[in-house]
Amino acid sequence: MSITAISVAAYIVASLLFILSLAGLSKHETSKSGLTYGIVGMGIALVATIALVIDKVLKPELDLTWLPVALLAGALIVGAVIGFWRARIVEMTGMPELIALLHSFVGLAAVLIGWNGALEGFHADGVNPADVRALTNIHEAEIAIGIFIGAVTLTGSIVANRKLSGKMKSAPLMLPGKNYINVGSIVVFIVLTAVYVSRDTHGDNTSMILLGVITALALFLGWHLVASIGGGDMPVVISMLNSYSGWAAAASGFLLSNDLLIVTGALVGSSGAYLSYIMCKAMNRSFISVIAGGFGIEAGPAEDKDYGEHREVNAEAVAELLTGAKSVVITPGYGMAVAQAQYGVAELTSELRKKGVEVRFGIHPVAGRLPGHMNVLLAEAKVPYDIVLEMDEINDDFPETDVVLVIGANDTVNPAASEDPSSPIAGMPVLTVWEAENVIVFKRSMAAGYAGVQNPLFFRDNSAMLFGDAKDRVQDILAAMH
Ligand code: NDP
Repeated sequence: MSITAISVAAYIVASLLFILSLAGLSKHETSKSGLTYGIVGMGIALVATIALVIDKVLKPELDLTWLPVALLAGALIVGAVIGFWRARIVEMTGMPELIALLHSFVGLAAVLIGWNGALEGFHADGVNPADVRALTNIHEAEIAIGIFIGAVTLTGSIVANRKLSGKMKSAPLMLPGKNYINVGSIVVFIVLTAVYVSRDTHGDNTSMILLGVITALALFLGWHLVASIGGGDMPVVISMLNSYSGWAAAASGFLLSNDLLIVTGALVGSSGAYLSYIMCKAMNRSFISVIAGGFGIEAGPAEDKDYGEHREVNAEAVAELLTGAKSVVITPGYGMAVAQAQYGVAELTSELRKKGVEVRFGIHPVAGRLPGHMNVLLAEAKVPYDIVLEMDEINDDFPETDVVLVIGANDTVNPAASEDPSSPIAGMPVLTVWEAENVIVFKRSMAAGYAGVQNPLFFRDNSAMLFGDAKDRVQDILAAMH
């Protein structure tokens, strides 16, 4: 059997493993095996690709040097070293930034592959002369589309990375007529692509200039699209860019005639699009309104409101309240991740369960800074999966709950979202913690959450603030219970 045939078989196996990986990653219980499938699939794909290149080099009739193999090995080693290093040191809270940066590499790769395809031109050897024109047109359409999606992904991901890491303001950029700019850019792209593809001459200076304009336009669009989106919508933006990076990879797959890249790109593209849809639903936002931006602008008129006084409580009083409770719900948020309080929270959970208190967790779909953030932290601290519930599963149970511990969550428990139509986060479904008998909020100050909106929960009669670092306060409660 030839190496090419073995590689095709390996690519099919890798594609199947990627599908199994996605299926596995959709549930807590199977997420580890999902990861393993993904790693094995990627390993097989890499080995098959390297084997293909070596096989080509070994064919005397092709008269190739070992340079491609050396380049491949060099890229693999440099990529693996940087990848291992970054993944080892990244904090869970820095994960979305890293993901955004990785998406930008996929975008850059798609742009480079597109330009390479344009400079090389269409290889017409062995093609029926009657088909050359049509196939050249298809080749050029693939180039223009690949470069466009890749360049949008590239600059969009860089802006997302800078916004998430705080190097750029998270407030939306509001250029006048911003929606016209976005739609106009897409229309201009379609027109330029039609001209580029339908020209009689290919690969001349005019073609390259047209492609240069398409690239510059797409780079601008990616920057403008994400810069115009406000802080609160960043979760959707990240999964949207994930989707774009998949389509960019699929476009490169068409150009390189690489089936695995097409399948993998389509998997990433469609799963990213579906995740964006789920997140939009979780935040009660339409996809179009996310793109149109404007959500998450710094707290507007709500800031002028008088919310009354807040009440403070100490760790000893919370320990007493918890030991006397029948049912406790913990709703963690970004602050639990910052404080790395999950281990203490897991210990507190097991102590309370030993005392016969029912403890469950309520997880908001966009709690923290990336989808599934809280689930990963709780799993890391070995909190049993069966007591970790989703927002929809727990929301009806708050009226029968004695104590809710809001650990570093803010926007995801903000009653203004459901009660104040003028709030910037109005309509976003939230955990209705205020319906419980007692709510204890762990945070360091009265500062607003990610969306920059004040939270009336802190001023409710049944709420009390436990100020300080969440990890320290949980330890204080544990100490008071012993
Ligand atoms: P928020 O970001 O709304 O609030 C977190 C709170 O944690 C802050 O109010 C902060 O208050 C507190 N905090 C920070 N550090 C500590 C600490 N060491 N100890 C105790 N408290 C601390 O969190 P949520 O999880 O409720 O909401 C997530 C927000 O992030 C949403 O707006 C969501 O849209 C957005 N987002 C979500 C993404 C996702 O995919 N999940 C991605 C990007 C954004 P203080 O400073 O006073 O301590």
